[in-house]
Amino acid sequence: MRITIFGTGYVGLVSGACLADAGHHVVCVDVDENKVARLREGHIPIYEPGLEPIVHHNVEAGRLSFTTDADEAVAHGELQFIAVGTPPDEDGSADLQYVLAVARTIGSRMEDYRVIIDKSTVPVGTADKVAVAVQEELDKRGKKLDFDVVSNPEFLKEGAAVNDFMKPDRIIVGVESDRAKELLREAYYPFNRNHERMIYMDVRSAELTKYAANAMLATKISFMNEIANLAERLGADVEHIRRGIGSDPRIGYHFIYPGCGYGGSCFPKDVKALARAARAIDYEARLLDAVEDVNDAQKHVLFDKLNHHFKGDLKGKTIALWGLAFKPNTDDMREAPSRTVMESIWKAGGQVQAFDPEAMEETQRIYGDQAGLHLCGTKEQALKNADALVICTEWKEFRSPDFELIAKNLSHPVVFDGRNLYEPEMLTRRGLTYYAIGRGLNQ
Ligand code: NAD
Repeated sequence: MRITIFGTGYVGLVSGACLADAGHHVVCVDVDENKVARLREGHIPIYEPGLEPIVHHNVEAGRLSFTTDADEAVAHGELQFIAVGTPPDEDGSADLQYVLAVARTIGSRMEDYRVIIDKSTVPVGTADKVAVAVQEELDKRGKKLDFDVVSNPEFLKEGAAVNDFMKPDRIIVGVESDRAKELLREAYYPFNRNHERMIYMDVRSAELTKYAANAMLATKISFMNEIANLAERLGADVEHIRRGIGSDPRIGYHFIYPGCGYGGSCFPKDVKALARAARAIDYEARLLDAVEDVNDAQKHVLFDKLNHHFKGDLKGKTIALWGLAFKPNTDDMREAPSRTVMESIWKAGGQVQAFDPEAMEETQRIYGDQAGLHLCGTKEQALKNADALVICTEWKEFRSPDFELIAKNLSHPVVFDGRNLYEPEMLTRRGLTYYAIGRGLNQ
């Protein structure tokens, strides 16, 4: 099939590459000329395991191409996916300007039937707005053409995006026309062969399904962080509690890890957007507001522990920081807890020596020549002449470090672990003071 994808970010690029790998002919279009030029030269702008070979292979096979030319893009695909950003507006609601700009681009150029598919995470009612925008452009041109708008939210996880797209748990399709439904079924057939993964529903339910999924996951995290904070104050260990409750199949082990707060491009923005959408219809989403509040506070917990340990005097202190990305296996730093920690340290007059296996370039791009930030080539370099170590991301390579080396390098042998990576005894045995999240017995 001929498919066009607007947006070559995490979702657009992964979707485009995977759909091409399944045999479709895919054109990816982006307004970012620099990104498209680099993609054409074979450079993948994001770190995502397994993505690079798939892009290269399908470009070479002639099934995947990149362009900034909207005419070419709209002419190409009967299916037109919208995978552009939906960042939070000033009040937290989803900013639809990019989605609606694409709708107008399609409406002002289409010459034949098109299925317009919202893959971006968008509030309930967006498909209607997209349809209006397309129709207005058609009316301006005096064209009478059929089109359908479908909601097909994306559930891939950064860090495992290719695998998630290739072997999805489910493919949600909100569709109210048989013609569009048939085309979507065909497009996803290669991903749906072994067992039925397609779940069809009305458009508004599909739009809300995506927000509900992210809000549920964020709720699990904030809930566990709340329990961790209680455990800490009550002299209990949240790691025992996690195993204790996860063994109940109604609860399960997934997504109940306490930590220094969730970040990334999706959970913070989607929880906020859903809460704002609720407010707009005079419904107070108290649980969603609490999930967000708990998370905002949790991002400060590591710094508070650090500050407390140094009795409020971080001026001139150098803190080694391991892990900048908001989670492992990505270079994405959007809303990462590491940013809250670093910014608080700078505000208190301290310095940061930071290392991340993949997010160094991104950190440089965000913070440039920020005073008090030193980017280090290895995790060991970050320890040199530092006063303490803070860990913000649970990268595999941080899981069994050389504790003796840590103890030897730090002027104050103390570790602040935002991801509960270690058994407390492992550190205390080596003379390290260990602060984790919710491990009250050891604080
Ligand atoms: P992103 O910011 O990485 O990429 C968006 C891309 O769209 C950018 O390259 C931008 O230049 C491009 N763009 C903007 N306007 C355009 C236009 N008019 N025409 C063509 N391209 C345009 O965003 P992302 O992380 O890929 O997210 C996209 C959407 O998917 C969001 O709604 C997000 O919430 C949702 N989503 C993201 C993830 C994730 O893990 N990142 C997962 C599921 C859903």
